[in-house]
Amino acid sequence: MDAEANLPIKTLNTRHTCSACYKQFNKKEHLVEHMKISYHSPHQPICGVCQKHCKSYESLREHLAGPLAKANCSKVFSHLGCNLCLKIFDSSDSLSKHRGICCLSAPGSLVPKMLLSGQSHADISSSIDEGAQAVAIDCEMVGGGSDGSVDLCARVCLVDEDENVVFNTYIQPQNPVTNYRYELTGITEALLSDAMPLKEAHNQILGILYRGESVRRQLLGGTKARLLVGHDLKHDLDCLRMSYPHHLLRDTAKYRPLMKTNLVSHSLKYLVKTYLG
Ligand SMILES: [Zn+2]
Ligand SMILES: [Zn+2]
Ligand SMILES: [Zn+2]
Repeated sequence: MDAEANLPIKTLNTRHTCSACYKQFNKKEHLVEHMKISYHSPHQPICGVCQKHCKSYESLREHLAGPLAKANCSKVFSHLGCNLCLKIFDSSDSLSKHRGICCLSAPGSLVPKMLLSGQSHADISSSIDEGAQAVAIDCEMVGGGSDGSVDLCARVCLVDEDENVVFNTYIQPQNPVTNYRYELTGITEALLSDAMPLKEAHNQILGILYRGESVRRQLLGGTKARLLVGHDLKHDLDCLRMSYPHHLLRDTAKYRPLMKTNLVSHSLKYLVKTYLG
């Protein structure tokens, strides 16, 4: 019997990682099997010029536009490539048509001024510009459950396109708080003692989002409702126990050009640093 062949030493600590979804496997066979059956094949972003597979959007960007970019690919890319989603188009016409829908503009500073000045928690909802088409949401979570790992929404903030805070309030968590995560959230028991009930926060948030239009009206093709922008919106909405029509959600964790690979998102921290400086 060939003892050497059975020695698992070398593979013990080398886990095999799927380059698309970053799932790890102890055995190579399992990774191969995973790649066969997973729907995310072809796995990585692919160069539209030479069809090379890259392990992330970052490396594809390097390949197309970095200092060591492949000369031919980078030449084509500079004329016919979208610098956001890195797709290559067959004419400058279709590229400029595409740019209209792929365009993301980054405002100078995204830090809402009112948050910096330590706004009192009783202050909420200044008025929102009626013309605003989109609002961004962020929730602050404290911990519930025996180990404090369950996310409970304790603060929510909405910002309009001009960075005005249009809604900002603490919220009474629905379950007992076992960890305030103070270092991260700055939230204390005292701050939540007279906080807004979740239901009232819902009503106010939905009032801003639907712009006074009824949910029914919206479902029947209303046009007044605003876009809701956020990072990993499903999580925020779940914690708020709120739902909002899918076609009105814009999620920076799900938007392909901002993702790490076809399946894995970047962290919000990373996105802000990279795209907003
Ligand atoms: Zn995978
Ligand atoms: Zn290429
Ligand atoms: Zn694009």
